Amino acid sequence: MAKDFQKEFLKFKEIVLKNNENANLNLIKKAYDFAEYHHRGQKRNSGEDYFIHPIVVAETLSNMQLDDQTICAGLMHDVLEDTPVTEDQMKELFGEEITFLVDGVTKLKKLNYKTREEKQAENIRKMVLAMSNDVRVILIKLADRLHNMRTLEYKTEKKQKQTASETLEIYVPLAHRLGIYTMKWELEDLCFRYQKPEEYYELAQMVHNKRREREAYINEIIDTLNKALSTSKINYEISGRPKGLYSIYKKMSRNKIEFNEIYDMTAVRVLVDTVADCYEVLGKVHSIWRPIPNRIKDYIGQPKPNGYRSLHTTVFGEDSKPFEVQIRTRQMHYECEYGIAAHWKYKENKSKSTEFDEKLTFIRQIMEWQKEGGKDVDSKEFLDTLKGDFFSKEIYIYSPKGEIYSLPVNSCAIDFAYRVHTEVGNKCVGAKVNGKIVPFSHKLNTGDVVEILTSKNSQGPSRDWLNMVQSNQAKNKIKQFFKRYRKEENIEIGKDSLFRELRKNKEIYKRDIKDEWLEEIANDLGYPTKDEMFASIGFGKTNTEQIIQKLVKKHKDELPKQIEEIDITRTNSKKSFSNEVRVSDLDDQVDVKFAKCCNPVPGDQIVGYITKGKGISVHVRNCPNITNLKSPERLIDVYWQNNSNDIFPVRIQITTKDKTGMIFEITKLISAENVSIEAMNVRSNDNHEGIIDLTVLVPNTEKLNELIMKLKTIKMIESIYRVKS
Ligand code: MN
Repeated sequence: MAKDFQKEFLKFKEIVLKNNENANLNLIKKAYDFAEYHHRGQKRNSGEDYFIHPIVVAETLSNMQLDDQTICAGLMHDVLEDTPVTEDQMKELFGEEITFLVDGVTKLKKLNYKTREEKQAENIRKMVLAMSNDVRVILIKLADRLHNMRTLEYKTEKKQKQTASETLEIYVPLAHRLGIYTMKWELEDLCFRYQKPEEYYELAQMVHNKRREREAYINEIIDTLNKALSTSKINYEISGRPKGLYSIYKKMSRNKIEFNEIYDMTAVRVLVDTVADCYEVLGKVHSIWRPIPNRIKDYIGQPKPNGYRSLHTTVFGEDSKPFEVQIRTRQMHYECEYGIAAHWKYKENKSKSTEFDEKLTFIRQIMEWQKEGGKDVDSKEFLDTLKGDFFSKEIYIYSPKGEIYSLPVNSCAIDFAYRVHTEVGNKCVGAKVNGKIVPFSHKLNTGDVVEILTSKNSQGPSRDWLNMVQSNQAKNKIKQFFKRYRKEENIEIGKDSLFRELRKNKEIYKRDIKDEWLEEIANDLGYPTKDEMFASIGFGKTNTEQIIQKLVKKHKDELPKQIEEIDITRTNSKKSFSNEVRVSDLDDQVDVKFAKCCNPVPGDQIVGYITKGKGISVHVRNCPNITNLKSPERLIDVYWQNNSNDIFPVRIQITTKDKTGMIFEITKLISAENVSIEAMNVRSNDNHEGIIDLTVLVPNTEKLNELIMKLKTIKMIESIYRVKS
């Protein structure tokens, strides 16, 4: 039998009026009747009338103190999608604003969540866009999701799991970012129940069994506190707040502890009128119970980026059992419960709008990342950025002016620089943390004050920064820099690394690789020219493996050349080295180059190789490219000249146990030796060892050996050797 929705309205009206005595009941009743009429006959999975759902959504929105327009939109949020009503009809009856909200929610709904990552990224992107247009759209969507989660038991198990994981991935972090904690906790517990039913019910049972004991303990604490506060003039309220099951579960699995070992399952909360009262209560609490050092958190002095304000302290109670006390004003409490929604009330009040604006900072940040990416940011990258930065654990960092920024855990100063602004990152030359100069790789902690030193002469970011930064935002911006400003360089780097890999491949290395082949493969892979392909290798988007495979597949059967060509790589500097090396039997006019495979240095045993039309290339005598040579007639004796003041590039490879901080140690030592570093590349291997490839500039082997000896004194270094091919 259909419900009597006219009678039902009386209950609904009560709730609306309780939250806002000036609510426009005519407008709300009109939306109520309109939605009820159009949903009439529709049923939910539970068998109830469909219209029950929009009523609950609207009630939630009313309890969040949202305005009449949002409540109306909540009542009608499924009308455009599930009934024949058109946007124009709604506009005519309810005006632009309400229709805009309903339309926004409808558009979000059309996103269907698939496990495919791009789809998901696209969903979040739309969500963010909707938010930046009008955050009320997202609040309606959250209220909608909350009720759907509460009634999830009527769905199939597959659907339950899917909806729960979508909620945990998208809606819970959104509620957190918007500071709507009550909703966040409820959603988390509901997700937990459907994702891990066994663990959920087991834990719920344990919590239930201990309930009486816990309540007795809390009541004792409240009594003690009551006595202490009743003599003061403070207007206070004390309550105990049970912790959500999901957060207990998280704590247990994160710290690998048993249920019995969790003491702070209930926090005591004190609400007062003023900020001064908050600190006074904190003092009283600490005079009764001993505080645990470092567990006092002043989010009033330094609010969280999502606007959360409160004092937290954990103290030792009876039998040294710790418990948490949260102290805040009633206004702050209200804001914690409803987050961004709490500020909606003040939207007409100009003086409050900046504070409201601050709460939206993170939305603007996301929009900025998207904008800066322009066409370059594909969905995958955008999703990675969100997952890595927006939805991960965070630390809070302050600028010298006191502005607060949130960053992923383990971020370094470069992450911070890029969070402040792209140009600050690109022009960054140093960093101070809490007034002290630190290396770039220094990991930041919550509360650090970070000052970024910039120089307009900076050449831009360095490639090793990619190995130091934690946030995908910084990573993407550094990559973008290399894409845009260093294209030439990337072409060279990409080409080098391709040919270096090719040399290792016996099937193809002896062929004369023709430019046309490379052009063809570039086109196959979607690059207009081979240079574009090289550049893409250079900035790390394309790996050489697929190119080599294609080359092998297409061309390995083509005839080998009569005489094999040793790859003589250009040295970066154009200068002729013929002054340093004397070639026997030839005059000094011949073009002499140093082979990049082994990078000879004065002091090395060397030999010349007569190339075809490219002069003589000088190799170290035991360079594999020389020892494997099948045409020894091309070799020629060469000698070092003694008058050399020049420096030569040498490649060395260092393996370290852990690369944290190593780069700084190594570069510090090398520069103390007055040796310049020409290039550096840092990566990890499968054993999680750090592999550091360095090209240093040294005058001779003596200096090189000295340097290697010194480097060996660094403890974490496992091995060092000179790369000769
Ligand atoms: Mn709905």
